[in-house]
Amino acid sequence: MTHVVTEACIRCKYTDCVDVCPVDAFREGPNFLVIDPGECIDCTLCIPECPVDAILPEDDLSEAQREYAVLNAELAKAWPSIVASHAPLPDADAWAGVGEKRQWLESGTPAAAGTPSSPSTHREDS
Ligand code: SF4
Ligand code: SF4
Repeated sequence: MTHVVTEACIRCKYTDCVDVCPVDAFREGPNFLVIDPGECIDCTLCIPECPVDAILPEDDLSEAQREYAVLNAELAKAWPSIVASHAPLPDADAWAGVGEKRQWLESGTPAAAGTPSSPSTHREDS
């Protein structure tokens, strides 16, 4: 098994989870973190650290969340390791409660991060 970072992390990236991981399993993208399934030892320490409950054991993923197991595994191969927490994205608090953020996931490298935009630009009903 492994643990998986899910949709709630997108555009928040508080990074509190990173400091407790004993095996440095987290990888960092422009606006999302993932867990490398080849490194995670399922210690569960990161779960309570995440303020938006984005981290789940793989076996507890809902059907809708299953794509995040694939995304974590794929993106972990491309993104660099992150081993210490840093300041969250500037508008993290505004994005923390936003649902259906999958469309905002940037799969490039951190250096290719796009310009942050406010959740108010996101039309939920479009
Ligand atoms: S603490 Fe949660 S929201 Fe923050 S980077 Fe980790 S998984 Fe993402
Ligand atoms: S479950 Fe443990 S080993 Fe896996 S990512 Fe979280 S802190 Fe790291």
